[in-house]
Amino acid sequence: MSKFIFITGGVTSSLGKGIISASLAKLLQARGFSVTIQKFDPYINVDPGTLNPYEHGECYVTDDGAETDLDLGHYERFLNISTSQANNVTTGRIYQTVINKERQGAYLGKTVQIIPHITDEIKRRIKLLEQEGAYDIIITELGGTVGDIESLPYLESLRQMRRELRNKDCMVIHLTLIPYLKAAGEHKTKPTQHSVKELMMAGIIPDVLVCRTESKLSDEIKAKLALFCNVDKNHVIEAIDADTIYRVPLFMQEEKLDQIVIDRLKLEPKHSPNLDRWTEFLDRYKNPKTEVNIVLVGKYNELADAYKSIYESFVHAGAVNECKVNIIPIHSENLDESTLPLEIHNIHGLLVAPGFGDRGINGKIGAIKYVREKGVPFFGICLGMQCCVVEHFRNVIGIDDVSSVEVDPDTRHPVIDLMPEQKKISAKGGTMRLGAYACEIKKESLAEQIYGRNIIHERHRHRYEFNNAYLQQMESHGLIASGINPETELVEIVEREDHPFFIGVQFHPELKSRVEEPHPIFVAFVDAAVKYKNAKEVVAAL
Ligand code: GLN
Repeated sequence: MSKFIFITGGVTSSLGKGIISASLAKLLQARGFSVTIQKFDPYINVDPGTLNPYEHGECYVTDDGAETDLDLGHYERFLNISTSQANNVTTGRIYQTVINKERQGAYLGKTVQIIPHITDEIKRRIKLLEQEGAYDIIITELGGTVGDIESLPYLESLRQMRRELRNKDCMVIHLTLIPYLKAAGEHKTKPTQHSVKELMMAGIIPDVLVCRTESKLSDEIKAKLALFCNVDKNHVIEAIDADTIYRVPLFMQEEKLDQIVIDRLKLEPKHSPNLDRWTEFLDRYKNPKTEVNIVLVGKYNELADAYKSIYESFVHAGAVNECKVNIIPIHSENLDESTLPLEIHNIHGLLVAPGFGDRGINGKIGAIKYVREKGVPFFGICLGMQCCVVEHFRNVIGIDDVSSVEVDPDTRHPVIDLMPEQKKISAKGGTMRLGAYACEIKKESLAEQIYGRNIIHERHRHRYEFNNAYLQQMESHGLIASGINPETELVEIVEREDHPFFIGVQFHPELKSRVEEPHPIFVAFVDAAVKYKNAKEVVAAL
C-alpha cells in the first residue's frame, strides 16, 4: 500500500509547488523510497496540448505520448524516473470520463453530480498510480490556489480520501507565501491565515506549512503561524528564495521536511540520505571553468517557460562540461530580414527551437545558413531540424521552390511533408505523432559517437516529417540521414559531413535530460561549443 502526500497552494499562484513537490520527492528517494508525483490541473482543456506556450509554457510529452504540464518535466529531471498519462490529469479529462460514462449508461438513471461522481473520478485517478507500480509514496500536487472555484472538487476529494485512508497513510502540505512589508518592516501572516481558513472550510487541516519567503522568518512569526493555522510549530518551515531550483532539495533537507514526513507517515527509511550525485552536480554547475554563448532562435522567447526543458537541459549539460552556458534568446522574426542580430553576439553555438506555423521561418533558415558557412556548432530540434533540411535544399543544392508543407502548402518541392496518416486528421487535440519511438543510428556517424549505441528511444511531438522521396538528393549533397525509425523508415536525425558539429533531430531530446542523466546530444553540443570557442581564441591570438 502506498502513502499519499497532498500538496496544496495558498495566497498566489507561481509559488513553485512543482519544485517543492519534486524536492520533497527527491529527498524521500534519497532515503531509498520509491516515489512518484502526480499533478491535477483545474482547467477544462483535456490536456495542455492545445494551449499556446504563451498561456501555459511548454507542453511536456511523456514516453506514452501524453501531452502534459511542464511540472512533469521537473519531476522527471529531479527524480530520474519516467512519468506517464496517469501523472497529469485535468478537470477536462475528469469531466470527459464522467460524461462518456453517463452517455454509455453507466450511472443507471442517477443524477450525475460533482459529489460523488466527479470526486469519485478524481479519487480513482489518484489511486491509479497506486495500482500502476510499487510506489511507497505518491505525491499529488493540486494545481491552482486554495479558494479558486475550480479547485473545490479537488479539495473535497482530498477531504474524502483523508477520511477513507487511515490518518497515518496520508498528509497535507500547504505551500504558502509570507510577504514582507518594507514599510511596516515585518513579515505578514494574514494572507496565510486566510488561505488556511479556506482549507479548513473545505474540511482539511494541513499537517505542514511550507512558507515561501524572500528573507528568513523569525521564530516569533513561525509561532504565530502555528497558532493561527492550527499547525505544530515544528511543522512551519520556510522555503527561502534559492539561487537555482536545484538547491531547493537541500534547503528542504535543512528544514527537515523529509524527516517531518517520515515521522508523520511512520515511514521506515531504507538508508541515510544519499544525495552525493546531486551535490556533485550542484558543485560542478556552480563552479564552471569556462563559459559559452549559445543563441536560441525561437518564436516564444518572451517567455522562458516556453522552452523550459531546453533551458534545463543546458544546465545539466553545462555542469558535465564544467561550463556556464549563456543562452541568448533571439526572436526568429528579428532574423527574417538579416542575420545581423545574430552576428553581433560572440556566438559559440546555435540552437533552433521547436515550433509551429510559418512565423519567423526565414529567420531560422537564415541563421542556419550563417552557422553552416561559419562552422559554428548547430543543433536543430524538431522544427529546427526541418528548417535545416529546407536550408540545405535551398542554399547548398540550390533549388528555389523548396519548403515544408506546413509553411507553404503549394510548394513544388515538399521536402517536409505530412505523413499519410496525418492527412486524414482534422481534430487538433492529441493527434500529433506523440511519445517515444525507436530510432536506429547509422554506424560511424556523429550521432553514434554521441549516443555510443545504435538503438535509441526518443520522444516526439509533431505532424510533419522529412519526405523520403528527397532522401538520395539530400544525402548526395552532404546532409546525411543518420537516424531512421526502423519500422516506418522516417528520418529522425540528420547531420552534415562537412561541418564540425551540425545535427538536427526530429524528436525532442530536451524531454529526456535529467540532473543525474544529462542528455548526450546537449552534452556533446556544449562540448563542441567550448571547442569552437577555444579554437577561435587560438586563431585570434595568432
Ligand atoms: N511544426 C512542426 C511539425 O508539426 C514541428 C513541431 C515541433 O517543433 N514540435 O512537424
